[in-house]
Amino acid sequence: MKLLKERIQKDGTVKEGNVLKVDQFLNHQMDIELLNEIGKEFKRRFADKKIEKILTIESSGIGIACIAAQYFHVPVVFAKKSQSVNLDGESFITKIESFTHKRTYDVIVSKKYLKKGEHILIIDDFMANGCAVNGLLDILETAGAVVEGVGIVIEKGFQDGGKMIRERGIQVESLAIVDGMDAEKGTVTFREA
Ligand code: 5GP
Repeated sequence: MKLLKERIQKDGTVKEGNVLKVDQFLNHQMDIELLNEIGKEFKRRFADKKIEKILTIESSGIGIACIAAQYFHVPVVFAKKSQSVNLDGESFITKIESFTHKRTYDVIVSKKYLKKGEHILIIDDFMANGCAVNGLLDILETAGAVVEGVGIVIEKGFQDGGKMIRERGIQVESLAIVDGMDAEKGTVTFREA
């Protein structure tokens, strides 16, 4: 998505440890006009899919998923990160390792909001090693939901997440795929569409 790549080049910054900061328009301040274009693009890429609900993970995925949901006309459910999970049998639970915070979270979704046979699109801001998306896929598998695809705003193509999930036969649509970053020079290179 050209608009997104241009914005990353203009306002993204590269940090040590393969972290791309996009706080200026996505992860802290949010550019709603850009998010609208992102939402439309996800709708275009998953136009032929039956999607009944969008699943994301707090916190950065929520705003993106909500705006996209207006084009799909479906509700959004976000998985909650929690440090003390109450194993009451009323929630689906999985563990996710955080790429940016280098720690593991329990992640939960109430069984009230994910039902067997529901058709789900996963949306998130970034894909790196695929831990976040894998955790959400685990939850969907336990719930018996149907995974229609994964929509990612920025995939870091030099990490393995996207490849791993595509190899499972899941449609992954990333609006910008970064193939390389250089923290010293501050440069970002994209995979050609
Ligand atoms: P994964 O679970 O695929 O390893 O990492 C994805 C999650 O880590 C995303 O939900 C995102 O919040 C965070 N993340 C991973 N890489 C980056 C990055 O380069 N920049 C930012 N801002 N977040 C990242």
